[in-house]
Amino acid sequence: MPNIQRQGMPHVVTSACVDHKYQDCVAVCPVDAFRESENYLVIDPDECIDCAACVSECPVDAIYADADIPDEEEGWIDRNEEESPELDVATGESPVLADN
Ligand code: SF4
Repeated sequence: MPNIQRQGMPHVVTSACVDHKYQDCVAVCPVDAFRESENYLVIDPDECIDCAACVSECPVDAIYADADIPDEEEGWIDRNEEESPELDVATGESPVLADN
């Protein structure tokens, strides 16, 4: 197993994902860092290698590097970290919930 050097801080899914769960991000993540709840995704900070590939894939701009997260979304940093261990790895196969 190669020792992958983390380049910065992990990325975080924020409230814009809720009730959408588009999962375009899941398809590009090289390390299966996304975890899936019923109606949104989170990123496991222990898995994320901060490659930023997912950021531009999100149709609702829900993903930020945690250093860049808007003030009103800061609670999602803990939420991603705390919820990830309880959730299954996102496969990208569950349905998109809403298109607007
Ligand atoms: Fe996966 Fe890279 Fe996004 Fe982290 S930044 S969740 S490793 S695609």
